[in-house]
Amino acid sequence: MNVPLIDLARQYRELEKEIELAVRETLFSGNYILGSQVDEFEREIASYLGVEHAVGVGSGTDALYLILKGLGIGPGDEVITTAFTFVATADVIANCGASPVFADIDPLTFNLDPESVRARVGSRTKAIVAVHLFGLPVDMDPFVEIAENSGLSIIEDCAQSLGAAYRGRMAGSTGAAAALSFFPTKNLGCAGDGGMVCTRDEQLAERVRMLRAHGSKRKYCHEILGVNSRLDALQAAILRVKLTKLDAWNSEKREIASVYNDSLTTVVTPPVPSEAFHVYHQYTIRSEERDVLKEKLSRAGVSSAIYYQLPLHLQPCFRYLGYRPGELPESESAADQVLSLPIFPGMTAAEVERVRDAINSG
Ligand SMILES: *Cc1c(COP(=O)(O)O)cnc(C)c1O
Repeated sequence: MNVPLIDLARQYRELEKEIELAVRETLFSGNYILGSQVDEFEREIASYLGVEHAVGVGSGTDALYLILKGLGIGPGDEVITTAFTFVATADVIANCGASPVFADIDPLTFNLDPESVRARVGSRTKAIVAVHLFGLPVDMDPFVEIAENSGLSIIEDCAQSLGAAYRGRMAGSTGAAAALSFFPTKNLGCAGDGGMVCTRDEQLAERVRMLRAHGSKRKYCHEILGVNSRLDALQAAILRVKLTKLDAWNSEKREIASVYNDSLTTVVTPPVPSEAFHVYHQYTIRSEERDVLKEKLSRAGVSSAIYYQLPLHLQPCFRYLGYRPGELPESESAADQVLSLPIFPGMTAAEVERVRDAINSG
């Protein structure tokens, strides 16, 4: 038996009939981009997060990009974010014409360190992008304080954290706006690309609605320069079915994580802050012998992955920013030590034991 990192077909099997019905109905409706499936799904997500507005877009990356555009961020502006995340969090900043400024992480949570952010706020800073990495929600209070003191916007990258909460407050409901991704492997994944912008700010929601459709409110009248980035009706139809399982799937992953937490004795397991409701998009351990461990797991038929191999300040695409190795030591050390283990809805107890034994064995 080999243990995969994730098996999406198991989610599909669980909902096969409902998804096929929803897809067939949408195909017969003849309405394939935006439309009533997307409208309904936007309402469901807004209510799930407890915010007023949700706007379906083409991907999580586009959601981040359109939030930045919608906030008017562009050339001359700086946006502070974490160096330890997927590249999309920061490439959108550069693609808007602004400069990404990388801050370091808290070594325990892998999330942005507020002190490191505070030290980087300057006169050109316009926003902070906080990522709830691996599904562990950020404690937003210190960032809200920094943002209020310096007149900045907070953007939440919730690509990995749908369903997470900190002190009972949903990840994605605090900042100026949140970006969701429905990439297939995310907590709520579609059968392709999809994303959403969530916000309490009616004006921002309105701007993002225009931006996603070539800057138009009315057909063929283009008030601002926009893009084509809309959620497909088929994806929304699938996502609406899967949303009914999201909480159950997140609990399933939390149970698997709790078995790992109690039984993995030779590695550093993720922290369990009492105020955080962690949804374990990834179960990420640390080990100084990470590469040896990964090889050992592979020989035992257990898949694992390194998220992320190289922190963003050292990526070739950001070389022009002039960062050097050693500048963000916690991000660099995490990149050397992290390993993500299999965790997914439908994972069997036997598979969990197999992972545990492979890790704990000599
Ligand atoms: C997946 C991901 C994104 C981008 O989402 P896509 O839907 O793949 O464009 C952005 N940020 C983080 C942290 C992600 O994990």
